[in-house]
Amino acid sequence: PRRQGYRILHEADLRDYMAEILDVAARLGGEPASWTITEVGDGNLNLVFIVKGARGGVAVKQALPYVRLVGESWPLPLSRAHYEYLALSKQAQLAPGLVPALLHHNENLALTVMELLEPHIIMRKGLVAGTQYPGFVGDITTFMARTLFFTSDLALSAAEKKEGIAAFAGNHALCKITEDLIFTDPYRIAEQNRWTAPYLDALAAELRDDMELHVAISRLKLKFMASPEALLHGDLHTGSIMVTESQTRVIDPEFAFYGPMGFDVGAVLANLLMAYFASAGHERAPGERAAFEGWVLETVEQVWSEFARKFLELWRAGAAGDAYPASLFAGEKGAARLEAERQAYLQRLFTETVGFAAAKTIRRIFGLAHNIDFELIADPKTRAISEARAVRLARAMMVETGTFRTIADVTGAARKLR
Ligand code: ADP
Ligand code: MG
Ligand code: MG
Ligand code: MG
Repeated sequence: PRRQGYRILHEADLRDYMAEILDVAARLGGEPASWTITEVGDGNLNLVFIVKGARGGVAVKQALPYVRLVGESWPLPLSRAHYEYLALSKQAQLAPGLVPALLHHNENLALTVMELLEPHIIMRKGLVAGTQYPGFVGDITTFMARTLFFTSDLALSAAEKKEGIAAFAGNHALCKITEDLIFTDPYRIAEQNRWTAPYLDALAAELRDDMELHVAISRLKLKFMASPEALLHGDLHTGSIMVTESQTRVIDPEFAFYGPMGFDVGAVLANLLMAYFASAGHERAPGERAAFEGWVLETVEQVWSEFARKFLELWRAGAAGDAYPASLFAGEKGAARLEAERQAYLQRLFTETVGFAAAKTIRRIFGLAHNIDFELIADPKTRAISEARAVRLARAMMVETGTFRTIADVTGAARKLR
């Protein structure tokens, strides 16, 4: 009965529905009959409409009861729209200005109306085109440091934290997608896997036979499943970030749940590293994109270092959470020991981030969902060269994680492979 009334709102229904939400109708302006409605969804799961009126526009996202990319044969709960709405509300509170404003949500229809991001584009498209985003590091590190720190046991009481976990625990069908598609399928024969054949056939077979890699990915899977450290975005790739030269907005948190922080940070790093490796395949003249590629690697370094700096700053400024009680770290000696412990925490988080970044890379090359960084390299042989470089780095990051002590170790290894 909770789902009574769900129906897919196509153009005419959507127009009638929007006309009745008074503040949305006012924002659009003019007669509902004059509004233009365009479906723009390019994601794997949902419908997204852009609606424009005489005054302004909005974006409308509606979940389908199945996976859009695959079809009705793969059902997926509509409740993900509710979790996306909850996460978006929380992120708006913790990282103001870095997510689209929420205008309306209808849980029965699995529908959310939000601010139209314009002229923002999906960051991944900009990266394929070779565009640099000077404000990105500052914005994404603020987003991650604040959303992760303030939903962790470092900032919350034990009760608040567990209430938070409970609020998102029902989003397990989306977690299961990640568990299967990222942490399992690329390493075994699975119907939905694909790769750039025949060039990567041998590499795909190698991954399926690599027991050290299977141990490493399984440890990461367990970490993903069993470590509710903070409220994650859960799908923080460059296709979930919209940008202009000066603005950054994070969208699409339908995979949100309480999980390990390194999964979000690793997602950002992995997608930048893939943009770096793909860049060679988008060159029309050798060296043409050298400045862009330098910027990408510098951005990888700064995303980690600025995230770590901001996270530590929040922790030092006053951790109100129940972890690390101040009474156990009194005086000068206590302060010094606690500071060393903060550094150790960030070092562990770095190691996990490196592993998750590797997992996010391999799934894009051998799993179901690929990305345009590589897919838009038309010549399969050229594409396979870029992909194989990314996989080589990812394999080392996952299996020889301990040799990557600093982020410069990661970018240094990436540079050598180019
Ligand atoms: P999915 O969950 O299906 O991946 P997304 O939330 O990522 O859906 O949205 C799909 C696409 O719709 C985005 O890639 C973007 O082009 C567009 N889009 C989503 N939200 C907005 C918005 N607020 N403003 C403008 N375009 C948007
Ligand atoms: Mg998306
Ligand atoms: Mg996606
Ligand atoms: Mg999505």
